[in-house]
Amino acid sequence: MMNKIIIAIDGFSSTGKSTIAKLLAKKYNYIYVDTGAMYRAVTLFAKQNNFVAKDFLNKESLISNLKDISLSFKFNIDLGFAEMLLNGVNVEKEIRTLEVSQLVSKVSTISEVRKKLVAEQQLMGENRGIVMDGRDIGTVVFPDAELKLFMTASADKRATRRYKELIDRGDKVSFKDILFNVEERDRIDSTREDSPLMKAEDAIGFDNSDMGIKEQFERICALVDRRIL
Ligand code: C5P
Repeated sequence: MMNKIIIAIDGFSSTGKSTIAKLLAKKYNYIYVDTGAMYRAVTLFAKQNNFVAKDFLNKESLISNLKDISLSFKFNIDLGFAEMLLNGVNVEKEIRTLEVSQLVSKVSTISEVRKKLVAEQQLMGENRGIVMDGRDIGTVVFPDAELKLFMTASADKRATRRYKELIDRGDKVSFKDILFNVEERDRIDSTREDSPLMKAEDAIGFDNSDMGIKEQFERICALVDRRIL
């Protein structure tokens, strides 16, 4: 009989967390939850309602409207992963724009936002058998996760990956802006007061600057197997 476990993947922006998480979910038949998508969806909501913009954040209004935000995931068979729905509307594409990336870390500092999303995330992991990626999964959401990974890679490698993703889908962005955004988000995420991005004491660190996906995945699967068999 195999154990169902929780796999918590944290780390800096664009370290390939979601690529590994999706592969793991597929191999072990686990649910995959991209918690960054949830923070991005709340940010999109805040942007649509003019609660946030560059150099502007109306915290109080966002907080009092949090009850009107309903988040859900809808599995897309063709893509092989779940897309983010904000109040029933598929926002998967909108939440990945550089504009949302430039606002999301600011919105993610708000404790009331985090409280709402963390509660929803904990509910999704109730029955274990889940891979979750984000910034505070091993530290705050599931401190008792059986396997915790912490991913890092050089800023240049990370920005190159993100730049390629956005260019491939047709967004007009400059490498310089992407590099700045990746570093700026890491700075805000690591220094915020509530649930800052940090490696849990019992997390296993992975620097994948020079490691291919295949090698990384094999090493992580060995760690998973040791815990479920
Ligand atoms: O994972 P992704 O890069 O899409 O996350 C976007 C942003 O959402 C992060 O830069 C961070 O500000 C916030 N986030 C967070 N806690 C999480 C996941 C994401 O604060 N668990």
